[in-house]
Amino acid sequence: MPDYDDQNIFARILRGEIPNDTVAESDHTLAFNDIIPQAPLHVLVIPKGAYVDYADFHANASDAEIADFHRVAADICADHGVTDTGFRTISNAGEHGVQEVPHFHLHILAGRPLGRMLA
Ligand code: ADP
Repeated sequence: MPDYDDQNIFARILRGEIPNDTVAESDHTLAFNDIIPQAPLHVLVIPKGAYVDYADFHANASDAEIADFHRVAADICADHGVTDTGFRTISNAGEHGVQEVPHFHLHILAGRPLGRMLA
């Protein structure tokens, strides 16, 4: 796994250097609308800590950070009324996962039929 690059765009958002359209914020987590939404609801949930990807986060974050992260993500789904209609969560990782921004993030997509996703 590469070292954490503190110049990545989400690190800059967390430092307030780049604006974001915040959806939710807690002690350990920030969620904001994706700048190029792929669905009517397209939110990115990120930990405030410096974690490269899914594996780094779950291996190295505290239980409090991990619980907080998933609570924020689940609350966004509930608050937007998509728990019943359905939604998709995705976390791309590494080269094969085609992760573009090297700060762990979870995509939440909802608001339209999303189709099958095989690749
Ligand atoms: P991919 O671009 O293939 O989805 P990632 O999983 O790394 O790769 O996702 C990065 C996401 O970050 C993209 O959906 C992109 O639109 C979004 N994004 C990039 N810059 C910003 C920004 N400044 N504010 C909000 N979302 C952003």
